[in-house]
Amino acid sequence: MSTRPEARRRSRRQETRLWRVPVIRVERVTPHFARVTVQHDSLADLAGAGTDQNVMLYFYPPGTDLPEPLTLESARALWSQVRPLTRTYTIRRHDPATNEVDFDFVLHGDSGPASAWAERVVPGDEMIFVGPSPAYQPDPAADWYLLAGDETALPAITAILSALPDGKRALAFVEVADSAEEQSIAGVTWLHRDGAAAGESTVLVDAIRAALLPDGLPEVWMAGERTAMLAIRAHLLDERGYPRQRVRPTTYWRLGESGN
Ligand SMILES: Cc1cc2nc3c(=O)[nH]c(=O)nc-3n(C[C@H](O)[C@H](O)[C@H](O)COP(=O)(O)OP(=O)(O)OC[C@H]3O[C@@H](n4cnc5c(N)ncnc54)[C@H](O)[C@@H]3O)c2cc1C
Repeated sequence: MSTRPEARRRSRRQETRLWRVPVIRVERVTPHFARVTVQHDSLADLAGAGTDQNVMLYFYPPGTDLPEPLTLESARALWSQVRPLTRTYTIRRHDPATNEVDFDFVLHGDSGPASAWAERVVPGDEMIFVGPSPAYQPDPAADWYLLAGDETALPAITAILSALPDGKRALAFVEVADSAEEQSIAGVTWLHRDGAAAGESTVLVDAIRAALLPDGLPEVWMAGERTAMLAIRAHLLDERGYPRQRVRPTTYWRLGESGN
């Protein structure tokens, strides 16, 4: 079963481009979260639509002789010889005044190329990505919003919280390893796996199952590991009776599987 909803409210798609830009800053936000900032004049054209807007990172094998300029077309022309590994990441912050863009990477170990890259990246390295995607547009007709996810969804949830219509109630549940992984983001209820591995905990679905949720028309945005998404969706649809089209789960990663 796909966890992708049939219909989504999304911003208009911008022109898809390839961006090859330098990293200017790397910051450990928490022990397992690296914030990587890129900055380049070309990023002025990356019109930030906010919320869960994302890009596809390209990871080429070290030493690959890349064409100049590297564009979507020249990258595709190279595919018969070398195809990059791709991974999807959310635009955490786009500042059109400075042409800086932040990405927040969950550091989950060396088994994945994206996490391994984020462990080692230093200013001066380059980042290659393609995008951006359209962004989720919260439905202003909703009476209240439920946002839920593991730490991979935190960049999106943070941006969505600041984009919700004024005066509407929102509940945000975010699963992290432990209290050291919490960030100061107003309105988030933090849930700790407390020793369980990511993807093997039920704290998120348990918290939503136990929550006293508001009445009225909900809109639910959630993202994270596939099994958790399926469990929460089943609970909201089958036990709470929420209409299918009000619940928008996205699988961000799958336990034991590479790529997305
Ligand atoms: C639209 C979208 C937006 C996303 N935004 C972000 C974001 O802003 N920040 C972010 O960190 N992630 C984000 N993700 C999730 C990220 O793309 C995946 O976690 C991805 O699999 C990481 O790639 P990797 O190369 O590190 O690991 P992979 O090579 O994909 O996986 C290697 C192994 O690690 C496991 N694994 C993958 N991710 C995790 C994890 N988070 N915790 C524990 N184990 C894991 C896999 O199950 C596999 O066994 C997003 C995904 C999507 C679809």
